[in-house]
Amino acid sequence: MNEERLLLKWAAWSVAVGVVVFALKWMAWLLTGSVGIYSDALESVVNIVAAGAALIALAVSARPADASHPFGHTKAEYFSAVIEGALILFAAFEMIRAAWHRFANPQPFDQPVLGLATLALAAAVMGGWALVLLAQGRKARSPALIADAWHLLSDVIATGGVLLGAGLAWLLKWWWLDPVVAVLVALNILWVGLKLVRGSVGGLMDEALPKEQVEKIRQTISANLGGALEYHDLRTRVAGPRAFVEFHLVVPSQMTVAEAHAICDRLERALAEAVPGLTTVVHVEPESEAKGHRTMRMGTRRS
Ligand code: ZN
Ligand code: ZN
Repeated sequence: MNEERLLLKWAAWSVAVGVVVFALKWMAWLLTGSVGIYSDALESVVNIVAAGAALIALAVSARPADASHPFGHTKAEYFSAVIEGALILFAAFEMIRAAWHRFANPQPFDQPVLGLATLALAAAVMGGWALVLLAQGRKARSPALIADAWHLLSDVIATGGVLLGAGLAWLLKWWWLDPVVAVLVALNILWVGLKLVRGSVGGLMDEALPKEQVEKIRQTISANLGGALEYHDLRTRVAGPRAFVEFHLVVPSQMTVAEAHAICDRLERALAEAVPGLTTVVHVEPESEAKGHRTMRMGTRRS
């Protein structure tokens, strides 16, 4: 897939840029001793490891279906999210631990000017890279790449917040503000992590497609039903960039297999066009079978 190739390439570059940003943040921490900056640097570590894991997951996910994985490898993407979630928990715990310690013993920064300037440089590198990703994502019309760019921009804002907090702590000699900033960084990363894990668990549990997409599928089926009588028992599930739908199609009892198959092919084509990455499986049944069949299974989703 083209978009996957593109993502792989930019994800690899993102890891490299992430390492540079992390080195700058770590330097800023060594120069100041600020726990707020320390937390921001830890967040960078999480981002780098997560980007690396995502890179491996994307490479696995891009492999075509094979004999041992006939539905493809796209669920690999959820593993990297689970790893990122675990890392976030660990990092947030460490941030709060460091902040707690510093709150009990507030201390001034060692080299505030040089340290804060280094952190500002890190933010500028991140911001510049985010804009590059955004431009590339728009050019290639890749929602995933655009989402990555927005995520990075939100990280720039977080680093900006740390810069502001540390700057105020230094200018006003409010040294207690530094651990407060560290706790805010921890809460922010926890919030992001929670959403991430929530999404991945949904995918691993074969969650249905979002409501709007299911609605689109229903409309597409209804619009292309011609020749068939009705459909029921529609089920959907998501596996990374791929999605699966299956349903029962009721046709007149006298219809030939060839005619029914032509309807199925038409529905499959229309659905693939309506929802990219969608695989459709249709179970055909004659009108005479469907009636008793349907009332029996009213309210259940099993066939
Ligand atoms: Zn049925
Ligand atoms: Zn066929």
